[in-house]
Amino acid sequence: MIRIALPNKGRLAEGARELLERAGLEIELRDRALQASLGGEFVALFVNARDIPEFVADGAADLGITGGDLVAESGRPVRTLLDLGFGRCRLAVAARDDSGITAIDHVPAGARVATVFPNLTRDYFARVGRKVTLVPISGAAEIAPHLGVADIIVDLVSTGSTLKVNGLVEVATVLESAALLIVRENVLEDERHRRSVTELVAAVESVLRAQNKRYLMANVPRRAIADLKRILPGINGPTIVDVLDGGEFVAAHAVVDQRDIYRTIAELKHVGAEGILVTKIERLMP
Ligand code: AMP
Repeated sequence: MIRIALPNKGRLAEGARELLERAGLEIELRDRALQASLGGEFVALFVNARDIPEFVADGAADLGITGGDLVAESGRPVRTLLDLGFGRCRLAVAARDDSGITAIDHVPAGARVATVFPNLTRDYFARVGRKVTLVPISGAAEIAPHLGVADIIVDLVSTGSTLKVNGLVEVATVLESAALLIVRENVLEDERHRRSVTELVAAVESVLRAQNKRYLMANVPRRAIADLKRILPGINGPTIVDVLDGGEFVAAHAVVDQRDIYRTIAELKHVGAEGILVTKIERLMP
């Protein structure tokens, strides 16, 4: 069995579960909520997202899904197989908006930095050549400057609204992050495991690829076929099918980028298309 460590709660838990289910790995909870069968060769272990890089590195799990920030902070030797696209955020330096600090060069020598990412913070300030004092905390960094325990913070930001509510401004980006699928290097050395992991990666990739695509079908006047190549480039150009008793109409099918749907429908209508249907795609394997 291949053990895959998944976040048991928090921001990444739902995304990880949903993605695996869409890739065809149904999570069946066993009697102990700690463990679940994913069908076939995979078993899920539900643990704290922060511990996942360590568990994958030391062999408690073979694969894991967790944040890139947590993988980087752990410094453990694991290989990233895929960027999963959800949980996007950045690790940023922030200061009180009345501090006058708006760039990293303004951070005074000896400034106290509150963070739950001591390793990344230490490396970052060494890289930019500024001497600071770390104040390691275990959460809610955004209140540290107001409590007087720190001058600045290094914390995760996605929309920026938490910073804003707490009267903080972003000063610099330390790291961009998203949920990652990680694996321990030597798992891939085993031929059977490598095959299973490759199949899992292909299934997850097919879901990620399909996310921003739509399948579009329309009945189009036969005389407009020449226009379709331009309107519906699709993956290999549109598929054109005869409509039974259609005569005047053909059916056109194509995969279209979600962001192009609005324009495509307008153009199809312009050439006289009818019965336009747009559906989501579950998976796409080129
Ligand atoms: P948790 O603390 O279990 O909710 O998980 C936190 C993880 O979710 C972080 O380490 C990031 O990888 C990810 N994440 C994504 N967006 C954010 C955000 N805006 N704030 C905090 N964590 C985020």
